[in-house]
Amino acid sequence: MTTPHIRSAELEREKHLRLLSDTDRDIIRLVHDPLFPRWLEQVKAIGGCAHPVYLSGSTVTRDALTGEVTSSYSTAGEPGERLAVRCRNRRASVCEPCAYLHAGDTFQLIRAGLSGGKKVPATVRGHPRLFVTLTAPSFGPVHRFRDGEWCRPRRDGGVCEHGRPVGCGLVHTEDDPSLGRPLCPDCYDYVAHVLWHAHAGRLWDRFTTAVRRHLASAGGIRRSKLGDHLVVSFAKVAEYQKRAAIHFHGVVRLDGPASPGDPSPDWATAELLADAVKTAAASANVRAPESDAYGTELIVFGRQFAVKPIRAFADGEGPTDDAVAAYVAKYVSKGTAETGAGLDYRVTSLDDIHAAVVTPHVRALMATCWRLGSLPELEHLRLLTWAHSLGYRGHILTKSRRYSTTYTALREERSAYRRGDTVPIDNPAVITASSWRYVGSGYTPGEAGIAAGIAEDLVISRQLAREVMEDEGRGWEL
Ligand SMILES: [Zn+2]
Ligand SMILES: [Zn+2]
Ligand SMILES: [Zn+2]
Repeated sequence: MTTPHIRSAELEREKHLRLLSDTDRDIIRLVHDPLFPRWLEQVKAIGGCAHPVYLSGSTVTRDALTGEVTSSYSTAGEPGERLAVRCRNRRASVCEPCAYLHAGDTFQLIRAGLSGGKKVPATVRGHPRLFVTLTAPSFGPVHRFRDGEWCRPRRDGGVCEHGRPVGCGLVHTEDDPSLGRPLCPDCYDYVAHVLWHAHAGRLWDRFTTAVRRHLASAGGIRRSKLGDHLVVSFAKVAEYQKRAAIHFHGVVRLDGPASPGDPSPDWATAELLADAVKTAAASANVRAPESDAYGTELIVFGRQFAVKPIRAFADGEGPTDDAVAAYVAKYVSKGTAETGAGLDYRVTSLDDIHAAVVTPHVRALMATCWRLGSLPELEHLRLLTWAHSLGYRGHILTKSRRYSTTYTALREERSAYRRGDTVPIDNPAVITASSWRYVGSGYTPGEAGIAAGIAEDLVISRQLAREVMEDEGRGWEL
């Protein structure tokens, strides 16, 4: 029988528990779990990933000759008999820890192609290398930031056929929400804008082909024989501008034919490469399919493009290797929604587009995708599927195989390092048998709170590294 004294203490505790939030109660449950320290280790190992995936299974490694088990791991002893792995989302708005890691991998991947490392020889520094920015053409006048100057000065006070002023006498600040929006939405060529996005990937491919063609003709070599003399490699990132049109930042590098360590021929200089890039940017084009909806449309780059040599030596000109790598890495962690151009999720109806929290300009672009997407002649552009990204269906980052390493290689290197493996993954002396299955994802409210705390701690500890990286990216603008 309980004494009245203990009873009242129990009641007091129950009352107290009732006052706690679900999250608090969940945290209490968690920390009392004997496997809590191990759970904490798992979450730390994935950097406090916001949406982990859980796997259940085992890996056994045996000596290929004797069959003796050299190492084994099973989730049997883990909390919930499962192992948490990262969601690997590249968007900071979805998962900050994974996006940070992805940006770091991008930095390494780009920098390796410029400074060497990750199996790329350091001699690539001496090769002709350019940082290139290619834009979309104008689809109609938009409000713009001009650093203290009038947006679009017009003395005549003219109006368009819709009765709207064709000029803008305002001096916009850098964070003015009207930046990038058309002066007249009815004059703005939404169809051309969407068609440009839908063909931008192909336009880039045409551009790279044209660069090679120009180099071949400059060297007096048949196009089909260019590969015997030199190899051009590219890495590029797509970024949405204020007007919700993407542009490309890319690295172009010239190597000799054999490998990235092979110097390019003497005649193929950085100046020659710059000429080839400029000519190719001006001439590359893709013809959109003809349609009764708009007639014909030729897809070309805007006349505003920038070609800069990447600085190889301290006293050289242009951005440094690290600055270029930091600049590119910055863009891959941005979601479409974060840049104000589109949404991070797919839309399934015109109602979704009407309900989306976006600017009228972006809504008009999405609605244009929807309208054009139902035309049979444009079906292959899959504009309904890609309405949320305004018709652009390319990857954020693409690169030629020759350029440098891959995301997969970087991840493998990292996990091998974490396991403390001394045996290479493809060691023929061992046989590894694994069996894994997906058993769930996400957190309970209490787990999410603790994981967010871990992620926060990591943010503070790497703040310094990030500041250094950003400092590298500062000091030069396009
Ligand atoms: Zn994650
Ligand atoms: Zn303006
Ligand atoms: Zn108008």
